[in-house]
Amino acid sequence: MAKGSINVSVENIFPLIKKFLYSDHEIFLRELISNATDATLKLKHLTSIGEAKVAYGNPQIEVKIDKDNNTLHIIDQGIGMTAEEVEKYINQVAFSGAEEFLDKYKDSAKDSGIIGHFGLGFYSAFMVANKVEIITKSYLENEPAAHWTCDGSPEFTLEPHDKTERGTEIILHITEDDKAFLEESKISELLVKYNKFMPIPIKFGTKTETLPKPEGAKEEDPAPTQDVDNIINNPNPAWTKQPTDLEDEDYKSFYRELYPMQFEEPLFHIHLNVDYPFNLTGILYFPKMTNDLNVQKDRIQLYQNQVFVTDNVEGIVPEFLTMLRGVIDSPDIPLNVSRSYLQADGAVKKISSYITRKVADKLKSLFNNNREDFEKKWDDIKIVIEYGMLSEDKFFEKADAFALYPTVDGKYYTYDELYNAIKAKQTDKDDKLVILYASNKEEQHSYIESAKAKGYEVLLLDSPIVSHLMQKLETTKENISFARVDADHIDNLIKKDDTKISKLSEEEKTTLDELLKTVIPAEKFTVQLEAMDSDAAPFIITQPEFMRRMKE
Ligand code: ADP
Ligand code: MG
Repeated sequence: MAKGSINVSVENIFPLIKKFLYSDHEIFLRELISNATDATLKLKHLTSIGEAKVAYGNPQIEVKIDKDNNTLHIIDQGIGMTAEEVEKYINQVAFSGAEEFLDKYKDSAKDSGIIGHFGLGFYSAFMVANKVEIITKSYLENEPAAHWTCDGSPEFTLEPHDKTERGTEIILHITEDDKAFLEESKISELLVKYNKFMPIPIKFGTKTETLPKPEGAKEEDPAPTQDVDNIINNPNPAWTKQPTDLEDEDYKSFYRELYPMQFEEPLFHIHLNVDYPFNLTGILYFPKMTNDLNVQKDRIQLYQNQVFVTDNVEGIVPEFLTMLRGVIDSPDIPLNVSRSYLQADGAVKKISSYITRKVADKLKSLFNNNREDFEKKWDDIKIVIEYGMLSEDKFFEKADAFALYPTVDGKYYTYDELYNAIKAKQTDKDDKLVILYASNKEEQHSYIESAKAKGYEVLLLDSPIVSHLMQKLETTKENISFARVDADHIDNLIKKDDTKISKLSEEEKTTLDELLKTVIPAEKFTVQLEAMDSDAAPFIITQPEFMRRMKE
């Protein structure tokens, strides 16, 4: 039996790790399962290149609760460790065996999916345990198993063990304060949150499966059952596959897997897949949007090599796309670092602009391939697109080709189409294009009718941010201005025909004029007692566009 001191430069690093390394106690399980996964993936890699002369088989990871002994066990069938390796990898805090492995096997292992990074994950066990044991047997022949025990002080013991099968068992003696981690429901919840899509099957208990009744069974006979391993994860989630291997239905069923409580189907998806200059995969979904900009509960989830990290993707995904759903997986996003650091990180910036570009490209292809369908979806997606046009200039440039401007009559124009349709009629004295719009079809009905009678197009722009978008268009496009149908600006449009019709007699006009003057302030409104067409109301009160916008 060997005895020694853990080799750390800072005397009491444990209390520090326990308190400050991770804000969340619960991530210890994610870290230990990540290590078990790495150990298994390393074995997979070594067998595939012929360096390990053992059968890889169908290894799984098991999580077990032993309530009688207050212990939680994480058991894998991976490469295991020799006693020397325990000394090297475990006793040296902040030495990452994962990084060493990736370094040693370089190119051949770069796609192996190895998770570990900083050589600190293992010690997160001490956040919930006052004693940790490792029982491990290396895949190497004739290496005895080793048993390491440590109570959270820098002292440890290392002795031989009689374990015969390859792999590692980590035993956590859970502290009184953390007893919750001995509850099946708690562990189940954590496994679903962090490990649902990890690449090696994870067993947690068993479940009872109903089998088909044997032939000739009677109606009243109960169907036979059998106990099978309860595997909590899907090791091959859709985003790790090639888009060409997936059907539309596969994307939909993956959406249901991600958000089991979401009953509405997504409108469409975007499969992200890039490996240069950074590595990123994922699937984004456009859900049906409402005008409600509140943060939603079902958010984009960030993964690193299939390990859940967070569903707060602020800083990684451009803000206007945080309304989407789905997953992003990248080993290149620095984890466990502050958000402000993330925003300044070069790789993260590139990721963000890549995502913006992919989303714009997808929208463009949907528009090009099936315009009718795109128009049908417009109301559900416009909020994201308009918000994106306002906040990201790159997106604005791309969206110009597919952003739609619906008319009150249900026609949909792109900006260029709109321009061509109205340029002949809707220009004012200064040759400025005047784009008319209504924000409420019912309230502005008579103004809309009157404008239409003059041969003008009236857009229906009613999303909450559209006034900002109009301002953006007015400053971006040359010589245009928006005017609401009930603004007096309309009168400045070039008119082909100046004959005005009135439903009122001269006498009525005079009386009404005098009456209106007393109730309506002339500096704020314009009263018009004639209309261009006979269908319109007998008189119209308009308000200058600038006055109206001032109120918003
Ligand atoms: P990292 O995973 O970032 O390398 P950890 O502190 O999580 O750092 O783990 C340290 C090292 O201990 C690992 O790199 C690995 O070499 C070794 N190790 C931890 N858990 C296991 C395991 N279950 N099987 C084999 N080796 C392990
Ligand atoms: Mg680790």
